Formats: sequence, structure tokens, C-alpha cells
Amino acid sequence: MAIATINPTTGETVRTFPELSESEIERKVGLAHKRWRTYRDTGFDERAEWMRTGADLLEQEADAAARLMTTEMGKTLAAARGEALKCARGMRYYADNAAEFLADEPLADPAAVGARHALSRYRPLGPVLAVMPWNFPMWQVMRFAAPALMAGNVGLLKHASNVPQCALYLEDVFRRGGFPEGCFQTLLISSGRVEAILRDPRVVAATLTGSEPAGRSVAAICGDEVKHTVLELGGSDPFVVMPSADLDRAAETAVDARVQNNGQSCIAAKRFIVHSDVYDAFTDRFVAGMRALTVGDPFDPATDVGPLATERGRAAVEELVDEAVARGAKVLCGGRRPPGPGWFYPPTVITGITRDMRIFTEEVFGPVATLFRAADIEEALEIANATTFGLGSNAWTRDEAEQDRFISDLDAGQVFINGKTVSYPDLPFGGVKHSGYGRELSAHGIREFCNLKTVWIG
Ligand code: NAP
Repeated sequence: MAIATINPTTGETVRTFPELSESEIERKVGLAHKRWRTYRDTGFDERAEWMRTGADLLEQEADAAARLMTTEMGKTLAAARGEALKCARGMRYYADNAAEFLADEPLADPAAVGARHALSRYRPLGPVLAVMPWNFPMWQVMRFAAPALMAGNVGLLKHASNVPQCALYLEDVFRRGGFPEGCFQTLLISSGRVEAILRDPRVVAATLTGSEPAGRSVAAICGDEVKHTVLELGGSDPFVVMPSADLDRAAETAVDARVQNNGQSCIAAKRFIVHSDVYDAFTDRFVAGMRALTVGDPFDPATDVGPLATERGRAAVEELVDEAVARGAKVLCGGRRPPGPGWFYPPTVITGITRDMRIFTEEVFGPVATLFRAADIEEALEIANATTFGLGSNAWTRDEAEQDRFISDLDAGQVFINGKTVSYPDLPFGGVKHSGYGRELSAHGIREFCNLKTVWIG
């Protein structure tokens, strides 16, 4: 894939970038390794000051950063601005909390292990390669970079090929924030160049957010090299609605949960599983909400849903919908691309899904909701868990016993009751099953790329 900014609203190529040469990659990996040997011993206060200055820059430049995101991948300008500010918040969160998260953990009773003192100490690992997706082109990077840098690691970013300007901008933010050269570098390379970097002994670990095939590939190489990985892969999150739910709020949130980021979020609710008693009432509200959305230019403040980020991405969504319809699924709204330029696809609701349809098992990365009817909580849980993914999940019920059932029995890394799945710096984020492993954000996220060193002093 060419490394280029291609505006999804128009389909026009705005700017292309040459890939790094072998010698440029060698220089950058060498610099990362050399820098880490001094950077690892900088103090938390110093790192926090650079991180906060970077956060200030992102806040001051939020409008420009937002325009970059909207131009490169088509999210609405308001959403993009929110993303820039969320990055700043994530940076401050780790600037404020890293020292506490990584403080020594003394053993209460060292005599039990025959020591005078015993403790665990978190030490950084070294240069980490981050392979990142385009859908949250700044936030996905920041939620790796802020904790990794605060822990004393250095970062190498291989960003998605369609968001090179976002990638270069983030490198610039860290540099201007005050981080020494080499602490965070963008590598403009295609995915075929990733393997050699993962096998380089100077690169000690990797994190990938993206699709399942990309995750499998990176994990296989790192497995072969015995290097630590964190994988944040796809999701097909269930959104269950039970009879005691507040239907107006559930339907309104369902619309937002499905179409956020133009339908291209790993934690978007994708499968809506509704109890028979409220199925018709919920469906009417939900379909009306989806129909009422304005699809159009993401720079226009009146727009709710912009284009999909890539032509290939839209074709993949269309294929899943068309195959389901050919096999008998019923389209309640949307389902057909509009004429004209840009990679638009309308908010769509489909029902009558059977398990032999690809749309039942695959992630739909666009504003398409599949709707299921469940007779009771057992059937709702069975449908919700009938997927190889396990990232986020949502259940709407005011019944506390039911809430508890969903919290315990939904196979997912996250359960949101009476709300939609959202990532916050303060909450751990990650999945189970084919959605990946490891955790980002919170205290857990910063510890992923640390050596938890056991210390025994006699
Ligand atoms: P993708 O094709 O997997 O791309 C993600 C990144 O991986 C890009 O930088 C891509 O580079 C690179 N890549 C692709 N194939 C690779 C390979 N074989 N080896 C090494 N690197 C490789 O995913 P996408 O379609 O852009 O993003 C959408 C997917 O990401 C969805 O499945 C979504 O659910 C998932 N996602 C998950 C999370 C989460 O936190 N769990 C968050 C956001 C998105 P190129 O661009 O150069 O191909």
C-alpha cells in the first residue's frame, strides 16, 4: 500500500510520501537503541514535564490536528477535535500517575523468604515497535506512547499507510514537548518491512492494534523471537436490550454506539440483541434514529457520519451486506451506497441474520447494525457470545440480578451496563479470544512494557 494521504471525502490523493530506505531504518533503530540507554535513567519528573508540554501543544493545536485526521481518514471534525483533546488527557494522566504506578512494591514480610528486604521493581524494556491503525490515528498511538515513554521505554511507530501526516505530527509533538531525539520516531514503511524490525535484537517488544491477520503475523514473528507482544484486534461487540431497559436512552445510545467514528471503531456495538418483549419498540426507535442521521462532508458541522476511510474498507462492508441480503436478510434502512465521489455508506440496519452468513461471524467495519431477537437472558447471552471476538460488550437492564449475569457471563474484556463501551485513560482496555491479549491504559497498560524485577536483599 502506498504511503499517502488520500482524502476519503473526495477520493483525491493529497500527498504521497516515499518509504524509508534500509539505511534510514537502520539509522532510526540504532538511534532508538542508543537513546534508550540514557533515557531509561531519566526521572519521572523530567519525563512528566515533557509529556505535559506535549499535552499543552496538542490542546493549543487541536483544530489543526483535527483537520489532519479528518483529511486523512474522514472522521467528523468535531470527533477529531475530541480525539486530539483526549490524547492530551491521556498524556497528563500518565504524567501524573506513572511514578505511583511504577513505584517499588515491597514484600510485607521479607523474613518469609529469608531476606532483609524483598521487593518488585518496574524497569523499562527498551525500544518497542508499535504497529497502529488509522481509525483513531492519534489516540491509538498515544495510548501506547504516553505510558511507554513515561515508563522509560522508547517508541518506534509504524502507522497505517493512509495516515502518514498524523504519524509525523505526533513525532513532532513529542520532540517539541522536550523528549530527546530518538525517544519517539515515526517509520514511514509498508507492512512488509515490519518483520525485519521485529527480528532486530535492538527492538525488544511490540504492540499492534489492527486486524486479526496483522495481529497473527506480528505475534507469530515475536513468538519465534520470544518477544513480548500486546495485541488489540477486532471486535463484534454485542449490545443487549432487556425489558427493564430505558428504551429511549438505549436506542439513542445504540445509534451513537454503532455509527461513532463513521462506524469504524473496534468497540462500536455491532450486534444488537433485543428481548422479544421490547423488540418492536426498540427496533422502531433504533431504525428511526439511524435514518435521521446526516451523512456527508466530515468538515461540515451538520454531518453525523462521514465517509469510510478507504475504498477497500467500503467494498468490504458492501460485500458483507450484499451477501447477507442475497441469503435472505432484510434491510430495514440503508444498505446501498449513495452516488457520487467519496467512500460513503449509509447507516444501515439488517435483520433476519442466519449463522451461515459471513456477516454473522465477521466484523463489519462500517455503520451497519445487525439485529437479533432473544426469548430470554439465556438466549441473549448465547447469541452475544457466539463470536470469535471478545473486546467490548454492552447490556441494558435495570434488573440487578441480570446486570450481574451479564458482568459475569459476557465473554469480553469489557462490560458496560446501561451505556456504550468507551476507552478512558483510567480504565484497563483489551480483549479476550481473537480480540487479542494484554491490556492498555490504566496502571495495567504502563506495566505491560516493563520488566517486573524481583529483588531480594539478604
Ligand atoms: P490492519 O490492516 O490490520 O492495519 C493495522 C496496522 O497493521 C497498519 O499499520 C497496517 O499497515 C499494519 N499491518 C497490516 N498487515 C500487517 C502485517 N501482516 N504485518 C505487520 N503489519 C501489518 O487494520 P485496519 O483495517 O487498518 O484497522 C481496522 C482493524 O483494527 C479492525 O479490525 C479494528 O477492529 C481493529 N482495531 C482494534 C482496536 C483495538 O483496540 N482492539 C482499535 C482500533 C482498531 P498498512 O496500513 O501499511 O497496511
